[in-house]
Amino acid sequence: MRKYSFLVLAVFLLSAPFLFAAEDDICRVHLCKMEVKQVRISYGLPSRAFFDYAEVRSESFPNCDDSVLGGCIVREITHAEKNVCEQCNTARDEWRKAENDNDKD
Ligand SMILES: [Zn+2]
Repeated sequence: MRKYSFLVLAVFLLSAPFLFAAEDDICRVHLCKMEVKQVRISYGLPSRAFFDYAEVRSESFPNCDDSVLGGCIVREITHAEKNVCEQCNTARDEWRKAENDNDKD
C-alpha cells in the first residue's frame, strides 16, 4: 500500500507543472484558450484614469493585448510576451466604443 501511495504522489508531482501550465493559458472570463503574443511595455507612473480603466479591465477583459507595466525606470526592452485572449480584445474594443459614445452625449 505504501508503495502505491508513493507512486501516486510521484505521478502527481511530475504532472502538476503541466496541469497548472494548462490552466494558465485559459482565459478565466471567457474560458477559451489564449495565445502567447508580444505586447508593448509601458514605463512611468500610471495616471488615475489608468487605474480606473485597469479595474474594469481586470473584471471584464483581463487578457486583452494592452501593454504591460514595466515600472518607473525606463529600460531598453520594449516588448514582453503575454497570454492574449481574442474575446478579451473584442470586449475591450466594445467597452472603449461605448465609453466614447457616452462621452459624445
Ligand atoms: Zn478573455
